[in-house]
Amino acid sequence: MTATYITTTIPYVNARPHIGHALELVQADVLARYRRGRGEAVRFQSGTDDNSLKNVLAAQAAGTGVRAFVDRNADAFAALGGALSLSFDDFIRTSRDPRHRPGVERFWRACSADLYRRRYEGLYCTGCEQFYRPAELLHGRCPEHETVPQQVSEENWFFRLSRYAAPLRAAITSGRLRIEPAGRRNEVLAFIEAGLEDFSVSRPAGRSGGWGIPVPGDPGQVIYVWFDALCNYVTALGPGEEPYRRWWAGPGERIHVLGKGVLRFHAVYWPAMLLSSGQPLPTALFVHDYLTAGGRKISKSGTPGTVPEPAELAAAYGADAVRWWLLREVPRVGDADFTTGRLAARADDELANGLGNLVNRVVTMIHRYRGGRVPAARRSAAPAAVAGSERLAAACREAQAAAGAALEDFDFRGATAAVWRIADEANAFVSQARPWDLARAEDGRSQDERGRRDAQAQLDAILGQLLGACSALGRELEPFLPDLAARVRAQCTPAGDGRLPLPRPVFRRLSAPARSAPARSAPPAGLGVEEPEQDQHDDGADDRPDDPDRVEAVDVQVVVLDQVLQEAADERAHDAEHDGAEDPDGVAAGDQQPGDSAGDEADDDEHDDESDHAGKLPRSRVLCPHGRIVMKPVLAGQLALQRGAEPRRDPDLRVADPLAEPLRLGG
Ligand SMILES: [Zn+2]
Repeated sequence: MTATYITTTIPYVNARPHIGHALELVQADVLARYRRGRGEAVRFQSGTDDNSLKNVLAAQAAGTGVRAFVDRNADAFAALGGALSLSFDDFIRTSRDPRHRPGVERFWRACSADLYRRRYEGLYCTGCEQFYRPAELLHGRCPEHETVPQQVSEENWFFRLSRYAAPLRAAITSGRLRIEPAGRRNEVLAFIEAGLEDFSVSRPAGRSGGWGIPVPGDPGQVIYVWFDALCNYVTALGPGEEPYRRWWAGPGERIHVLGKGVLRFHAVYWPAMLLSSGQPLPTALFVHDYLTAGGRKISKSGTPGTVPEPAELAAAYGADAVRWWLLREVPRVGDADFTTGRLAARADDELANGLGNLVNRVVTMIHRYRGGRVPAARRSAAPAAVAGSERLAAACREAQAAAGAALEDFDFRGATAAVWRIADEANAFVSQARPWDLARAEDGRSQDERGRRDAQAQLDAILGQLLGACSALGRELEPFLPDLAARVRAQCTPAGDGRLPLPRPVFRRLSAPARSAPARSAPPAGLGVEEPEQDQHDDGADDRPDDPDRVEAVDVQVVVLDQVLQEAADERAHDAEHDGAEDPDGVAAGDQQPGDSAGDEADDDEHDDESDHAGKLPRSRVLCPHGRIVMKPVLAGQLALQRGAEPRRDPDLRVADPLAEPLRLGG
């Protein structure tokens, strides 16, 4: 079995994690999940760089002991695993992990032919932990940190990088060490062409406050943190021989995901260290660009006060929404600007309206028209005649290969777009196929027997194809949105009784509806405002600020709403009395299907008069006397308002109302 080893870089823990860290973690997680899904043996590793001098300085500035400071921040990075649904197999902490220090010492000794001591003077940026040549500075400042570097003069150990220009160039140009995107590869080659100078690989122990790994045989020096940190990719595989042989020395792939700011370390220093110590090179480096936050650069120490930490974002919006923004909006080349507004808009538009509605309406229609049982496909009624069927089938068929090809290129936007095509085609197909018309036709008295049979077979085929598309989404989205994909799969999988689970929202809308409408009192007790499928759908319909119907309807909304709400409440009370128990979902199983909120309406306002109100208020047969065009948006807005006033609790979903309360900022 192919063995693939995927790593993130290990960030300094001089500050808490920011959204830029989340980008890299999520990208690497997608690669790991995707490859596991196609049957590869995968090891996915992340961790923290605890031994940085910068950590020491930050701890001093915070007036905290270095150990406590480092532990606290490292814990925050490790906690991103749960918060962002990351599938790490291993998380290494360079100051704590018993594998690391002996591994670094072994590595150091293995490079001894290229290590020597000399006095060095240079300009040092502690932010980068790196010496700069004057020509590399921008107006005398570090190009990364825009700070003035320190003039440092000290005796250090050096690594003979100058020997490795030719082998590095050969590894990169041959593709043995692949660097993506191509612009980064060219940047590395240009750096090599400009001439490689030996680089300092130790610091006086005094300058690091004793923090770090002492140079073997020279305890007055500690190993340069970059030398130390880069070794994590192999020290975590020790001390036994087998994991190292399997993941690093074997024929599989070794993929590092990293940011552009640490390209030189990964594409030049690290491969040279590996060559010096006689070890294989990584097979691929994927270099992502940076995020800005609200138009501002995110420095390595974060941007306190501008953007919530990734764990806070995930707690507020859910891991799915955070992952989706990072994967859908961050280009393969070029920086991207993050705002919580963009995150919520993307999630609402696609995960709630696009995917959530689709799954909900398909499952609801299967419950409503087929008692929850997945229709068996009938050869005679392949839905090929229905416009869009072939396009949807093609999207389902091609998604996996297209996403895979994009991920081979580390193109996360391309990969998600390939999968998303299924959702777009399926939504278009619903509108074109109009299953609700077929449902009427198969019941219709005006039809002859043959017409009814044809309608029935067509509807079976359409529902079957739509459910297949939803299942395909549940499968293909797994690497990108593991939590949401699992909910979609659960929703599309028949239970022991052969029926699909009752429809529940797989993704709830994040943005609160507009608050300009007049405040309403609480709904009558027992009202099914909690109906999940209403939530999915109504919110979608509600999202039209210039909807003239809504404006016109303001005057009648209270009357109409109260009437319908009361009817529904009365009916529920009545049902409870007679049935002995009230269905908590308000959706009865079997023949008594709830109204189809699943969205006959969204694309079909003019024609589907029957499902509309029933959809809003299941089991209410009392429909709006004012006509549907007025009712629909009014009810939608009204229900949304009530939800806004009284946030619900759903153990399966992490929901927040981002407008209700500004997110508290970390740090
Ligand atoms: Zn710097």
